[in-house]
Amino acid sequence: MNISFIGLGNMGLPMAKNLLEAQFNVTGSDLSQTALEQFKSYGGTVAQDQQQLVENADVIVTMLPSSESMKNFFLGSEGILKQLKPKTLIIDCSSIAASVSREVALAAESYAVDIVDAPVSGGILAAQAGTLTFMVGGSIQHFESAKPILEKMGKNIFHAGEHGAGQIAKACNNMLLAINMIGTSEALNLAIQHGLDPKVISEIIQNSSGANWCVEKYNPVPDVLENVPSSKGYVAGFMTDLMLKDLGLSMTAASEVSATVTMGELAKDIYRSHSQNGHGKTDFSSIFNLISQTS
Ligand code: NAD
Repeated sequence: MNISFIGLGNMGLPMAKNLLEAQFNVTGSDLSQTALEQFKSYGGTVAQDQQQLVENADVIVTMLPSSESMKNFFLGSEGILKQLKPKTLIIDCSSIAASVSREVALAAESYAVDIVDAPVSGGILAAQAGTLTFMVGGSIQHFESAKPILEKMGKNIFHAGEHGAGQIAKACNNMLLAINMIGTSEALNLAIQHGLDPKVISEIIQNSSGANWCVEKYNPVPDVLENVPSSKGYVAGFMTDLMLKDLGLSMTAASEVSATVTMGELAKDIYRSHSQNGHGKTDFSSIFNLISQTS
């Protein structure tokens, strides 16, 4: 099977590497020469032009930074959608607005091109290990076609619903994660200010009704857990600015259906001020520092 992979950045490059290791023929494209050279060193074919990207592709995988880049890549004046042969399968793994996923899907249908949105949960380490979670939006039939490819890059593959549902699932998950990380930081900081040992309070919470992923797997207090960003100077990880981007997508999704997201909005404000204080490139669990410093 021939796959064209567009967007060989922090996430895309290790994902494309896993596809190469699974013996797919992968042709890659990126704006960065460094990324292309790395991809080539893994055995990938670098596309010389757009024509090479589309002509033999059975599947197009995109891992692009934003709604604008994704829309422009497929629907812009130089957009490739109209050049794809019918029945080509597009798997868009980028985190973008659900409305843009639906818009591109509608256009794809008019060219008889198959498409799913398949954003991921799990950061760079999960991309490298091939253990990403994929949340897929699109028809069951296209989900089944995408699954064997997604399984080479991820461990948990979910069908969320129709076009855009993958993006909505991702926006909901990350909004909850953002809120949980702030709540966890507040609770742990409060205990520490009262003299409790952070490891002791973490263990108590983890075995009580406040238990959650942030306490157990991604504790924001340094040296409670090994090998998490907080114990390594909050080196990303999952950058505050990416969390901020995802919260923007959550708020857009909420406004489309007038859903109440009071805590989500508050979380966005808190992460925004953390980013404005110069922590946009540090891991999002560094929000603990904002909370503990303002105590
Ligand atoms: P990145 O900025 O490292 O990579 C994006 C790549 O796309 C860049 O190398 C850029 O040069 C390339 N690109 C942009 N426009 C292009 C075009 N027209 N043609 C070819 N290449 C183009 O970003 P990333 O961290 O790899 O994230 C990619 C997507 O995955 C984003 O939507 C992000 O929100 C999402 N995501 C990231 C993480 C993470 O931890 N980094 C986790 C989950 C989801």
